[in-house]
Amino acid sequence: MPHCFCYCFRRIEAGSNIVILNYFRKRRYLKRIDALHESLGIPMDYARVHKLPLCPEAQGLCSIGPDIFEREQRMIPPAANAWRSMKTSAAGEQIELQVVSAFRSVEYQAGILRKKLEKGQAIGEILMVSAAPGFSEHHTGCALDLTTPGCAVLDEDFEQSNAFEWLMENAGRFSFSLSFPRDNPHGIAFEPWHWAWRD
Ligand SMILES: [Zn+2]
Repeated sequence: MPHCFCYCFRRIEAGSNIVILNYFRKRRYLKRIDALHESLGIPMDYARVHKLPLCPEAQGLCSIGPDIFEREQRMIPPAANAWRSMKTSAAGEQIELQVVSAFRSVEYQAGILRKKLEKGQAIGEILMVSAAPGFSEHHTGCALDLTTPGCAVLDEDFEQSNAFEWLMENAGRFSFSLSFPRDNPHGIAFEPWHWAWRD
């Protein structure tokens, strides 16, 4: 059956091209991250020590509206839909969830680190609270930093809020979870505000 063979071969060939394409894309991404890390003085064993996976930079993002600073924020569409449902559900119980930050590009993350270095902070100290470029969940378009009225932004006090209590009880229903609880295996400071949608 030459026709069938030919068809299958084309399919396999097309599949291999995708694998090769992904391989080169990943290699290019790794090279870009590596160069950024070198310029920022990030230790070479960073990913291994913090047990953090490389986070791809999301494509095809959609708007989730403005954050508390009136900046437009974006997520990948399924995460954005889950976020809208979660926010609406919380609002139904008089809990106001507000966005501080969602998608962040690799370049944006590098800029955050550069600013801190310019202020004289040591890279080790910075990496306790900020992920290295390429290793922030915010690159994936699935992560959110949240707050609620009356709470200082990106502050551990968020843990004491009704919003945090609501999230601990309900976020799982929307496939969101806390990425960095206390004593997490990544050695990252406790971040009660940082939630990520997982497929
Ligand atoms: Zn975050």
